[in-house]
Amino acid sequence: MRWSGWAGAAFTTVAGLLVSTLGLATDRWLRQRTHMVEEQIEKRGIHNPELLRILRATPRHRFVPPQVRRFAYDDTPLPLGYGATISQPYIVALMTNLLEVRKHHRVLEVGTGSGYQAAILAQMAEQVYTVEFVPELAASAEATLQELGYRNVIVRQGDGREGWPDQAPFDRIMVTASPAELPLTLVDQLAPGGRMIIPVGPSQNQELTVIDKHANGAITRTPAGPVVFVPLRGN
Ligand code: SAH
Repeated sequence: MRWSGWAGAAFTTVAGLLVSTLGLATDRWLRQRTHMVEEQIEKRGIHNPELLRILRATPRHRFVPPQVRRFAYDDTPLPLGYGATISQPYIVALMTNLLEVRKHHRVLEVGTGSGYQAAILAQMAEQVYTVEFVPELAASAEATLQELGYRNVIVRQGDGREGWPDQAPFDRIMVTASPAELPLTLVDQLAPGGRMIIPVGPSQNQELTVIDKHANGAITRTPAGPVVFVPLRGN
């Protein structure tokens, strides 16, 4: 009787400690994320309230490998293994903002990597299709997205230079690895009125490029600043 009372008290104390430790950890990530949005995103001129809310709500630390988790909210890209990197938070925000995603849009992402960018897009669009070349990355991104409950993302392993012909055309396309030249297959898979964001150019010297396909099928190409992305494989 006395023993079980003691055990009960000990259990309550341990459980209480565990709950408050987990609570503190959650607070710490949330604090870091709030700080990231203020310092890295808003101060650099991105004020889209929906995007800021989504960035505050998306646990970036859950998408990066454990070895670099403590840097998840730093102002930097991070290695994912297999030659892939998760982009710096500001670049994710900049590209997402330029894409002008609406609730009814079907979006293709090329270069799933960690799945973080796909998770951001999933919260703005109706459906996200994302293609990743490296099987291990495709599998782990899919698992993370499932665990976190992003149900409107479909991950596929494959060569994103081919797009996703079965599901084309797309209202929006985001390419997060860099080809030397604009891939015309992807331009073809853009719906009239559609927009694509893609870093184009040689390694270390790429131009973030906005491609608009107008209602009559005409294409305009607008430069949006220098960036560095990993190469789109297969070139
Ligand atoms: N958007 C990702 C970052 C991607 S890094 C994120 O949020 O984490 C670029 C990714 O493109 C890498 O994972 C790389 O493996 C992938 N990639 C490179 N070439 C590809 C290709 N031809 N098709 C699909 N994915 C490709």
